[in-house]
Amino acid sequence: MIPKAEIHCHIEGAADPELVLQQARKYNVDVSEIIQNAAFVWSNFSEFLKCFDGAASLFRTPEDYALLAETYLAQLAAVGCIYSEVFISTDHARMIGISERDYIDGLAEGIIQARRKHGIETRMIATGLRHEGPESVLRAATYIAQNPHPLVTGFGMGGDERMYHPKELAPGFDVAREAGLEITTHAGEFGGADSVRDSLKYLKPSRIGHGVRAIEDPELVQELADQQIVLECCPGSNIALSVYNSFAEHPFLALRDAGVPVTLNSDDPPHFHTSLAREYEIGATEFGLTEAELCEVTRTAIKAAFVDDETRIRLLQRVDG
Ligand SMILES: [Zn+2]
Repeated sequence: MIPKAEIHCHIEGAADPELVLQQARKYNVDVSEIIQNAAFVWSNFSEFLKCFDGAASLFRTPEDYALLAETYLAQLAAVGCIYSEVFISTDHARMIGISERDYIDGLAEGIIQARRKHGIETRMIATGLRHEGPESVLRAATYIAQNPHPLVTGFGMGGDERMYHPKELAPGFDVAREAGLEITTHAGEFGGADSVRDSLKYLKPSRIGHGVRAIEDPELVQELADQQIVLECCPGSNIALSVYNSFAEHPFLALRDAGVPVTLNSDDPPHFHTSLAREYEIGATEFGLTEAELCEVTRTAIKAAFVDDETRIRLLQRVDG
């Protein structure tokens, strides 16, 4: 089995329909609108968000979050994944009425159990919700800066990337960076090359979530290669959300050939009918990557991981072992 790593996955979006149904029974909630025939159903982006929120709203206690993290990480470990980073959202926690502390402690418990039982290493990336605005992103960053947790090692931003200019969102990222957190942000998925360029300038990330639309600007591609900015590519997600019509049109290979470090990730796997294993399969069948090249993708992810050097060396040894 090819050793795998994942550095772009939203934990609430990783709950599979089976687990969500189990939670729906626990809280006596009707989910027939979002789950049919054991699969999530949605047909456009706003329906997808509704589906995501509906599933996420069924995780309400630290125990629920521990179960969510452990279940997902066990699935990853079973397909050869040795390292995972998950996006968490303290805003989301607050919206459903759980404290930030309980939310993070619950997830951490699931992460610790998964490491103990399955050997998978995991870190969390706190995120701000872009469409909630600069104040909200600053609040999320400030919370995590003032309440550090050893397993929360990065800060990022999800949400609608067409809203707000990176310049306006910079204060939150400054707070996170000054607190010693590593930086990533979604850009170049629905936004064009400019969204990547402006994010680099104002948010100073070492990685970009998606970033694939950088391909529209050759100078920017060269810059990404020169600075070795890692792209958290999620091809299955891009196809599901019609960023590209087919894998043949997807710029993964073009970016890689231009020297940009690229990785493979599942984003919100069951919503996009994918998984980390499926993304590596796409790498092999759609992009023609050899086993050695897929191992290199894993190495790229681990080199870009938000971990201390000792952990990084140990993980790289596992890829080569
Ligand atoms: Zn994402």
